[in-house]
Amino acid sequence: MKETELSIKFFPDPVLKKKARAVLEVSQRNREILSKMAQLMYDHSGIGLAAPQVGISECMIVADIGSGLYKLVNPRLVSKEGTQTLEEGCLSVPEVCIKIRRAKRIVVSALDDTGKRVKIEADGLLACVLQHEMDHLRGKVIVDYANFLDKVRIKKRLLELKKKYKNEGLSESETKSCKLQL
Ligand code: ZN
Repeated sequence: MKETELSIKFFPDPVLKKKARAVLEVSQRNREILSKMAQLMYDHSGIGLAAPQVGISECMIVADIGSGLYKLVNPRLVSKEGTQTLEEGCLSVPEVCIKIRRAKRIVVSALDDTGKRVKIEADGLLACVLQHEMDHLRGKVIVDYANFLDKVRIKKRLLELKKKYKNEGLSESETKSCKLQL
């Protein structure tokens, strides 16, 4: 695996369906991957990115909604409260937006990039982003939340993505139509 140059993997790449494995010990290699993931997220105007989205099936995520960068290893949902519904996009599923109902406030336990245990109390958008990224770690993407009407609406786009995946892969300059890119 070439980890020196990470790139975004697109639906229906099988890595997005795989359950990511836990990181046993946070190493220099993990720190390098997390830094590169953060850079890639910023380059693509994203607010969150999970390691499977760059082809690495390990439990690492980054997020930044404008109030600081989180680099988290083995994140785990400790508690959740309330509900909110936001329209979410995904850097791995370009030009598809789905309204997803999630918890409004969550507490996440994780390791930071030095291996220290951290607890994050997130509300609103950050709670949404962290839940979206933790979904990626268990092989779940936004299209898995599509209801019947969503499926009708995005059917053509998903077929296009499947064709592009088979042929030449997607260029990374695809236009992004959703406000939230995670
Ligand atoms: Zn995503």
